[in-house]
Amino acid sequence: MMFEPSLIEQDADGFRTCGTCLERKPISEFYKDGIDANGNPRYRRDCKQCYRISRLKSRRGVK
Ligand SMILES: [Zn+2]
Repeated sequence: MMFEPSLIEQDADGFRTCGTCLERKPISEFYKDGIDANGNPRYRRDCKQCYRISRLKSRRGVK
């Protein structure tokens, strides 16, 4: 079952919930991923920590 996109939208107070570890973290803990149609920055759904972990895993050939 997929997460609904609305569950991982950016929160109003500068925090958002990571789509991988589901922890609530400041927006600075997420990498930017372009801008949306309104010119607002978009962020990856996984936090920097999870992104780093997933990169390490993929480098070792582990999913
Ligand atoms: Zn995370």
